[in-house]
Amino acid sequence: MRKLIASVLFLAMVIMAPTALANSENIKQFTVNEVTVYPIQDSQGEMDVSLFSGPLSAQERAAYMPGGKAPASINVFLLKTPSGNVLVDTGWGKSGPGGQALTDLIKLSGLGPDDIDVVVLTHMHPDHIGGLLNGHEPFFSRARVMVSAPELSYWAKASATSPPAAEQGDDSENLPAEAGDEPGFDPLAVPMENEGEAVVIEGEAAAPLSDEAVEEVAPADEAAAPEAEELPVAPGASADNRDETEADVLAVAIRELPRAVIAAYGDRLTTFEFGSEVVPGLTAVEAVGHTPGHTALLLKSGERQLLFIGDLIHAAALQFPEPDECTSYDQDKAPAIGSRKVILSMAADGNLPVAGAHIPFPGIGFVKPDGKRGFTFTPVQGSGS
Ligand SMILES: [Zn+2]
Repeated sequence: MRKLIASVLFLAMVIMAPTALANSENIKQFTVNEVTVYPIQDSQGEMDVSLFSGPLSAQERAAYMPGGKAPASINVFLLKTPSGNVLVDTGWGKSGPGGQALTDLIKLSGLGPDDIDVVVLTHMHPDHIGGLLNGHEPFFSRARVMVSAPELSYWAKASATSPPAAEQGDDSENLPAEAGDEPGFDPLAVPMENEGEAVVIEGEAAAPLSDEAVEEVAPADEAAAPEAEELPVAPGASADNRDETEADVLAVAIRELPRAVIAAYGDRLTTFEFGSEVVPGLTAVEAVGHTPGHTALLLKSGERQLLFIGDLIHAAALQFPEPDECTSYDQDKAPAIGSRKVILSMAADGNLPVAGAHIPFPGIGFVKPDGKRGFTFTPVQGSGS
């Protein structure tokens, strides 16, 4: 068990190489007309080149990822809307190393977890649903949780079947190997590495962000867009170090977290159809491929819009210019590529800012065709506190 616990923590680091976060640097804000959007960084890290495959040669791929890495992040988006407080995804939360940060960062917006009315999920991978849980209990006392009907159906079936990954046919072929030979393993019982390290938010940083500091989301000045910074590498956080056992343990987390969320939220977990208005002003856009029900979400308030693209992009440095490149986490690669191209084209055509779960924090920016195979991405930094 001890080895498994270590492996789960290690895998969380492989995915995102998180570092301790909990300060005002990790929350930004934008306004989209009547809606205030707070990108919150659950954890930060980088993607390893070994996670990607596609038409590029290894040498071509490496040219986009110096040192075999691309900066990445786990971003959660908190929306204060006239009709309620909405969270788009939850990060790993308390189910992963960034959890304490998420709690306190929500407070920086002037809200607490109990103030969240609705959590809308782009999909049910662990780095998007972990924050829904505090152990086996709901982290959000009041929130409804909404996910697309095909996504919930897939994970409900997957988590009810044992061993599921071996029996799900083509849909699961790209998931890590099944871990059905680890009876009794409970990823939710895993103590966090940062447990006991109180996150202290002091002084002005603890105050709600001021309205004056809010920055409109507007087309960015490309020349002013800063370069993404090189992020620190967690010790040992190299995909080269993974072995089959670790891949197996990740497969357990992938299956067990959806199961636990379904059990914890019960009737508070509901589904939506693609094309429907999930909450006022937020419409579900089909973006399947990464997972069977992967969803983009289009926020509209007055004339302003913002498109949440979930996991269409994992390594921004590689996949904006080369959208045919997939991560191993893309469960069905052909539709994942199709969704990536269609939705990024839609964003480019409409000059829509996009907000991505793994684009370097704050994860928001503008997309344009690059005149070759893909797109340019110009980040918008937003205002801090
Ligand atoms: Zn993800």
